[in-house]
Amino acid sequence: MMAASASRVAVIGAGIAGASCARWLHDAGYAVQVFDKSRGVGGRLSTRRIDWTDAAGVSHQASFDHGAPGFQARSPAFAAFAARAHANGLLLPWQPRDPAGRAAADADTWWLPAPDMPALCRALLQDLPVQTQAPIDALHRDAAGWRLASAGATVAREFGAVVLAIPPAQAAALLQPLAPSWARQALALPMLPDWTLMGLASAAGDASDWQLAHSSDGVLASIIRNHGKPGRAPLAGMAHWVAHASADWSARHIETPAAVVQEALQQALARWFGQAQDWHYVTVHRWRYAVAPAGARSGTDHCWWDAQAGLGVCGDAWGGGGVEGAWGSARALAAAISGVDPA
Ligand SMILES: Cc1cc2nc3c(=O)[nH]c(=O)nc-3n(C[C@H](O)[C@H](O)[C@H](O)COP(=O)(O)OP(=O)(O)OC[C@H]3O[C@@H](n4cnc5c(N)ncnc54)[C@H](O)[C@@H]3O)c2cc1C
Repeated sequence: MMAASASRVAVIGAGIAGASCARWLHDAGYAVQVFDKSRGVGGRLSTRRIDWTDAAGVSHQASFDHGAPGFQARSPAFAAFAARAHANGLLLPWQPRDPAGRAAADADTWWLPAPDMPALCRALLQDLPVQTQAPIDALHRDAAGWRLASAGATVAREFGAVVLAIPPAQAAALLQPLAPSWARQALALPMLPDWTLMGLASAAGDASDWQLAHSSDGVLASIIRNHGKPGRAPLAGMAHWVAHASADWSARHIETPAAVVQEALQQALARWFGQAQDWHYVTVHRWRYAVAPAGARSGTDHCWWDAQAGLGVCGDAWGGGGVEGAWGSARALAAAISGVDPA
């Protein structure tokens, strides 16, 4: 007889990989519980909310999509998922234009979760038990199944399987005592960093309506008019800028203090615009593990699954990069665990 714990699955990580895997396993009859160390779900599908007080002392909230600016769907399966999410009001189509009014770089439609980037993961997880602010730092296996621990205390126990849907370096830390060869392989998966600037500047005199520009100045990779994206509500009179440093520049400055990085990115933006912006608020965020390079993957597998131990790993680095790769990796793992392809 199957132990009651066999159908209980702990999913660590509530980004698109963890949320998708949890949803599919729940729909296949598993009792799923999700854990994420952050305050909310979504992972790198993220929107930063800030409080900003204007010169008259009035406080406002502004938001910036400071992780993935959106994503594209290339495989028929992921395109069908995006179309369903669009029909359900969860995704908006986005065809960003560059400052010359052309479709930006790649003409494929982008998809944008609405009203903010985590909305897609929130919807996938809406009726599932999710524990946020739950950093899992150790996994133990005993006769009753898997036990999850944080800072020396047990957070949850008696799971038949554990899914790690977290970036490779974080997965490696959990895998090291359990599956050292997987830990080594995870650490070998490439991930690129990204220093990201978010800023509110006066929009006086700005009549343009482009949304996405690319730069090859050696510092910046892309500049996004966040307030021009569909479904985003800008503060009146304010431009909401998000600028991503290139992976090379970010890697070289990964340990540089945030204040120094902010100054360098503001200067690069001033050169790019041809004039300094009238900034009202600026901050930077360091993504140590922002993107898995396209095509990077763990051999031919889109995920790792050890059926005997009840231990699985998925995420963008295993699935070929990006939101689509993370989703595809989660799909492969849900199929391996349940024996049914969920798509
Ligand atoms: C700046 C930037 C730009 C990007 N641009 C694009 C783009 O243009 N197109 C595209 O497709 N993709 C883009 N991406 C990548 C895309 O966002 C990711 O590939 C995708 O969101 C990864 O999903 P995931 O579920 O695998 O991981 P994540 O979204 O990283 O989710 C992992 C979750 O696990 C949690 N976690 C980690 N460790 C633990 C732990 N020990 N215990 C509990 N919880 C834990 C984290 O808090 C996080 O919520 C971009 C990302 C960034 C940061």
